[in-house]
Amino acid sequence: MSFDENYQVTSNFSELTHDFLSSHLISPTPVNYSVIYLYISNENELLTAAIDKKLQQTGLITTDFIADLFKRYVSFTQQVENSILSPFEETLNKTLEQISKQVSNEVKAAKSLQKLDKVLTNTAHHKSLEQIVGYLFSTINNTKAQHQALSQELSTTHQEIKLLKDKLAFSRQEALVDSLTGLLNRRGCDDKLQALNFADTHSSLAIDIDHFKKINDDFGHFVGDKVIQRIAKTIKSHVGEQDLAVRFGGEEFLVVMTNKSIPEAKRVAENIRISISKMKLIQKETNTPLPPISVSIGIAQSDNTPDWKSLFEQADNALYKAKNSGRNRCICA
Ligand code: GH3
Ligand code: MG
Ligand code: MG
Repeated sequence: MSFDENYQVTSNFSELTHDFLSSHLISPTPVNYSVIYLYISNENELLTAAIDKKLQQTGLITTDFIADLFKRYVSFTQQVENSILSPFEETLNKTLEQISKQVSNEVKAAKSLQKLDKVLTNTAHHKSLEQIVGYLFSTINNTKAQHQALSQELSTTHQEIKLLKDKLAFSRQEALVDSLTGLLNRRGCDDKLQALNFADTHSSLAIDIDHFKKINDDFGHFVGDKVIQRIAKTIKSHVGEQDLAVRFGGEEFLVVMTNKSIPEAKRVAENIRISISKMKLIQKETNTPLPPISVSIGIAQSDNTPDWKSLFEQADNALYKAKNSGRNRCICA
C-alpha cells in the first residue's frame, strides 16, 4: 500500500474510532482510543470477539471494560505502538505545529492592528472604522486564547502518549526477561533469535545444575534460588555481548553463542563449568558452607541441524550424555 493509501485507510479508521467513542460517550483517552481503534481496524481477533459479544449482550461498552481489554489483549503487543500510537502522535505533532503557526499569525495580526489603531488615534477618521478595528481586535484575541487552550490540551495528550509508550516499552522488555536472574526468558530468547541468521554458524550450550534437588532439600528453596542467581551471573560473565544467556527452565540454562563454532563454544563452556565448581557459597544466617556445586553442559553447533529447535535438542542430548557419564563435565554433540 502506498503512503497515501495507507494514510487514507488509517484516517478512515481513526474517524470511525472517534464516531464509536462519541456514540458510546467514551472519552478519547489513549487507552480507549487504542482498544477501539484495534476493534474498528479488526487487527486483533480476540479483542474484536470480546467487544462484539459485549455489544450483543448489553449493547453497552464501559471504560472499565475497555481498560480490562487493554490489559488482556493490548498492553504487551507492539501492535498498539506501530499501528495506533505512532500515527496518532504524528498527526498530533502536525496539528500542534499548525496551531502554533496559527497563534504566531494571530500575534502578528494583533500587532498590525495595534499599529493601525495608533494611526487612527492620530488622524481624523470615521467612527465606524474604530469600531471595526475594535471588533477585529477582540475576535483575534478570542481565537488566540482558544488556540492556546487547544494547544495546551493537545500537549497534555502528547505527554500521555509518551507515558503510555514508555510503559509499553517497559512491559515489553519485562516480558522478555526472567525476573529472578535478569537473563532472557524463553520468550526473550525467541525474540532475539529472530534477529539472527540461522544459516551462519552458531553454537549452543545446554547447562543444567547437578543434583540441584539436594540443595533445595538440604537448604531450602530460598537458598536454591540464590544459587540459581549466582550461577546465572557466572554464565553471563563468560559470554559475549552478542551471545544470548537464557534461563530456559527452573535450573536449566541455554547459551546461544552467535557466529561461533564448537572449539570456541567448548572453551567458554569449560570456563563456565570450572568457575562454578570453584564457587564457595556460604549460607548467611547459619554461616554454613554449601557443598561444592557443579553443572553439566552439552554443546552443539548449528551446521548439521535444520533449525534452532533441533540445535537446542542436540545440545540437550549432549547434556544428557554429560549427566550419564558422571556430571560436572562438558560434552560435544
Ligand atoms: P540432575 O543432576 O540430574 O540434574 O539432578 P537435579 O536434582 O538437578 O535434577 P532434577 O531436574 O530432577 O531436579 C531439579 C530440581 O530443581 C527440581 C526442582 O525442585 C528444582 N527447581 C526447579 N526450579 C527451581 C527454582 O526456580 N528454584 C528452586 N529453588 N528450585 C528449583
Ligand atoms: Mg533439570
Ligand atoms: Mg539439574
